[in-house]
Amino acid sequence: MPELPEITAHAERLAADYTGATLSAFRALHLTALKTFDPNPRDTHGLALTRTGHRGKYLTMTFGEDMTYVVHLMQGGRLRSDPKRAKKPRGGMARWEFEDGGALLLTEAGTEHKAGVWLVRGETEGVDPLTDLGPDANTVTRDQLAEILQQENSRIHGFLRRQGHVAGIGRLLANEILHTAKVSPFAMSTKLADDEIDRLHAAMQSVIAASIEHERTLDDIGKSADRPNNVHHRVGFACPVCDDEIRSVEYRRYTVAYCPTCQTGGKVLADNTTSKFLK
Ligand SMILES: [Zn+2]
Repeated sequence: MPELPEITAHAERLAADYTGATLSAFRALHLTALKTFDPNPRDTHGLALTRTGHRGKYLTMTFGEDMTYVVHLMQGGRLRSDPKRAKKPRGGMARWEFEDGGALLLTEAGTEHKAGVWLVRGETEGVDPLTDLGPDANTVTRDQLAEILQQENSRIHGFLRRQGHVAGIGRLLANEILHTAKVSPFAMSTKLADDEIDRLHAAMQSVIAASIEHERTLDDIGKSADRPNNVHHRVGFACPVCDDEIRSVEYRRYTVAYCPTCQTGGKVLADNTTSKFLK
């Protein structure tokens, strides 16, 4: 799933290509695509794209003064230029058509149809779907993070991925941030020592900043396996820091990847789904 760095860079690409373009029509191409019924998308027709941005893993496109489409790509969604404007594009969920002939198409691979679009008039913060989101992960201060960690006692890998704590972190960033921080993915959130919180905060900043820089070099959101990862998608390879072998604990929908030497005091954790670590 695209995480905060991919969405940040993609919003910048969309801004460069579409700012100022006047919307002629928004079309929902799949019946589950548009999650809101008020305001009516017709109210955005004739308005120019004024800004794009993001909040956590959500992408935002504001037309006119305050009409904002909030887009969630979920696992297989993409938002791309669509010069063909086919009537029934493959995986088509929604399309923004511009007066100059250009268009943006939201597609979603697979059959889950979880990607979605919300239209919000006015302030978006705290309004569905941007409710119950913690601060963006690359904006929290060290002291804020220390407070947030006390909100719930759970294993830090899962804790960081819950968007109500901090927003924008998924499986890849959780693996990479914890490796850079030299914190075990199974450490309990409320039990982290001060120096671990220091390193976790620093790693959140540095890993996300480096990821945004990498994404800015691309033309579109790429595959997570192609990102310059240290542990994610690198199970069985050597740790670039200490040369130990990257290990994993496998869950049904994701893999926790870690370096024993860097993160768990050399301890290899049970790596099958009957593990006591299974949620
Ligand atoms: Zn290592």
